[in-house]
Amino acid sequence: MSYSVESLQRQFKLFRMSETAKELPDFLRKAESHSWTYQEFLHELLSYEESCREQKMIEKHLKWARFPYQKSLNEFDLQEQRSLSSRQLKQLKELSWLEQSFNLIFLGPPGVGKTHLAIGLGLEAIQNGQRVSFISMGELIPFLKTEEYLRKAQIQLNRIRKADLVIIDDLMYMAMDQHEANLFFHLINHLYERSSIILTSNKGPEDWGELLGDQGITTAILDCLLHRSEVIHLNGESHRIKYRNSIF
Ligand code: ADP
Ligand code: MG
Repeated sequence: MSYSVESLQRQFKLFRMSETAKELPDFLRKAESHSWTYQEFLHELLSYEESCREQKMIEKHLKWARFPYQKSLNEFDLQEQRSLSSRQLKQLKELSWLEQSFNLIFLGPPGVGKTHLAIGLGLEAIQNGQRVSFISMGELIPFLKTEEYLRKAQIQLNRIRKADLVIIDDLMYMAMDQHEANLFFHLINHLYERSSIILTSNKGPEDWGELLGDQGITTAILDCLLHRSEVIHLNGESHRIKYRNSIF
């Protein structure tokens, strides 16, 4: 029987431990030079494979999340957003709301950091091993309407339905007809208590009825969204306008 490094590498690959296979010669050298015990050797090898897999999973989840941009909570300046205390931000970062399937609703005018906060929390959730899906309301409605026949919509909506956290950005920028509001309600109802939702909107729930049209559907949607939710009001001037790039 051959014990060559190459044949061991082949076996590791066979068992889908290709990262370990690649690093095996290095591990063997280290084991000799540090006089690792058998247990230490196995521990090092398996921990390496485990961390590689976690990293790959995070990369896959980042791709699936489809964030429009990636900005972390560390990049969020609380001096610029006085409506949120550092204690509140820390609590949000701890993600206990996500474990308890709570929804978060960020309300406020444009440019105050609603999307940034939602993405920052989404990134935290992904680092924590959760699946996240980001979609703007403007994209969501066409996906829901074409789900029956468009593969792209099916894939996207499946990811949304299976996510631990769904971020729906800019909830109420456009009015919906009854069919659209119905489709939206079915999605929200599916996600209800199964996952957390972060919603951002420039209008408060009291104005949603006007855009959703049907009173019955509005009440049903509000019921699902607001039951077990934290509403966070963000105020202030637009960060975009304050720090706008000028060509002069
Ligand atoms: P909106 O409330 O319209 O969703 P965004 O979250 O997209 O606003 O913020 C607009 C831009 O300003 C983004 O580039 C975001 O990173 C930045 N921004 C807003 N608020 C802050 C803040 N408090 N600290 C750092 N950057 C901020
Ligand atoms: Mg936004």
